[in-house]
Amino acid sequence: MKLYLLGHEDRYCVEQLQLSLFPDRPMEPADGPFEGDGAVSSLHRGKTWITASASITLNGTTHRAVRRLRAEEETVRLRRRALQQSYYLAALPFLPEPPPWGALAGVRPTKLSTACLLSGGTPEAAEKLLRQVYFVTPERAKLALPCSLATVETAALLEPGDVSLYIGIPYCPTRCAYCSFVSRGVGRDTQALEPYLEGLLKELEVTGKLLESFHRRVRTLYIGGGTPTTLSAGQLSRLLENTRSRLDLGGCLEFTVEAGRPDTIDPEKLEVLKAWGVDRISVNPQSMEDPVLAACGRPHRGADILRAWEQVRAAGISAVNMDLIAGLPGDSPEGFRRSLDTVAALRPANITVHTLALKKGADLLSHSQPRPDAQAVAQMVRYAGQALSGLGYSPYYLYRQKYMSGSFENVGWTLPGQACRYNICMMEELHPIVSLGGGAMSKVPLPGGALRRFPNPKYPEQYLASLDRVLEQKAALFSCMEGGL
Ligand code: SF4
Repeated sequence: MKLYLLGHEDRYCVEQLQLSLFPDRPMEPADGPFEGDGAVSSLHRGKTWITASASITLNGTTHRAVRRLRAEEETVRLRRRALQQSYYLAALPFLPEPPPWGALAGVRPTKLSTACLLSGGTPEAAEKLLRQVYFVTPERAKLALPCSLATVETAALLEPGDVSLYIGIPYCPTRCAYCSFVSRGVGRDTQALEPYLEGLLKELEVTGKLLESFHRRVRTLYIGGGTPTTLSAGQLSRLLENTRSRLDLGGCLEFTVEAGRPDTIDPEKLEVLKAWGVDRISVNPQSMEDPVLAACGRPHRGADILRAWEQVRAAGISAVNMDLIAGLPGDSPEGFRRSLDTVAALRPANITVHTLALKKGADLLSHSQPRPDAQAVAQMVRYAGQALSGLGYSPYYLYRQKYMSGSFENVGWTLPGQACRYNICMMEELHPIVSLGGGAMSKVPLPGGALRRFPNPKYPEQYLASLDRVLEQKAALFSCMEGGL
């Protein structure tokens, strides 16, 4: 679908909205006026008013919309908002129904309500912003607001100079069919992980020195993947011992390790995690329905999750997150309801409800597995919201993904006072995230709302082959945090 910009260069915000509202029509930037189907987004600067207008033509029908702001009030944010509003309102008559997230096209729809609260706005003002300015439905605004409130609460625990630290273990015993992460299946051959672990320990050592010399405090620590518990108990112990000795964790609020799959969890590894101070863990069923797990290539059953849960409780790790996915092949609203009820009956601190998003690289794309349609997924997501709210959980972070069918989102739910702070810091970009390992992405929020990313090489082999460069980049990352380029 063509898009022509007239009188402005705020391409990104309009393009993202077009892609989100018309996902089946490939984007085609136009560098001049055109005939036929497409969109024109224009901005006119008058003495008193700045006028944003959009004109969209599809199959010979044209709709237009206009939004204005006073010239003296112009800021980048207000100008882009007017452009998005005009585009959204012109697009609305072409859509089968108003999209739940209205004119918000980004992956972090809570950022605006959070910014409103952080700048002193009331919860009512934040909700009004979502509903009246960005046309978000009441249902989605009700999800977003508690997340923004949880963010404000977490932000109050942070000081300038704080960072969160992420350590990535991009390995799993086998690959799930829907997986789109960089994760290598290594079976039971944990020896194959040795070179990676050695490289990671070097990066950890360099990072520890940089944290110390730049006086940066680690506020949350998260070891994710892949599945970090793919490492043997001995390897885990070595990693955690080094983590403790290389980093000052005196000010760390929480230490999370994703255990993910039950086929990587045993009492010996749990004892190691507990001994080195891990106080949060993820045990992820995705579904408790055996046929669904089999269709996804997960080599475990629902009963294995219950066994892992008992082992985690016996090890004394109290804060547990459990992930579920709505929309898995072979699942149904009834099956999902059973999974959610079974998991919720355990009362883990957090339950994260994802919606299946298939990216390039996911095996499910090449299988003709029947997947629930958007209506069935909507039923699942709705049930999760109602059931979890009724059980005392509230949403504490959420994000959307590209490739997500429908207008769904992934939502982390928490019991009171048990939110995972790392997830909030990372998702809401509250402070720098220093990331280590293959595929890891460090991020530094810059003044003005921009974000500078420092990616490590994607695959473990590339990571090891260019470790020297990775270590050099760590120095650049810390310099950027100090205001350098
Ligand atoms: S456990 Fe997660 S990271 Fe590992 S293969 Fe499955 S989906 Fe991918």
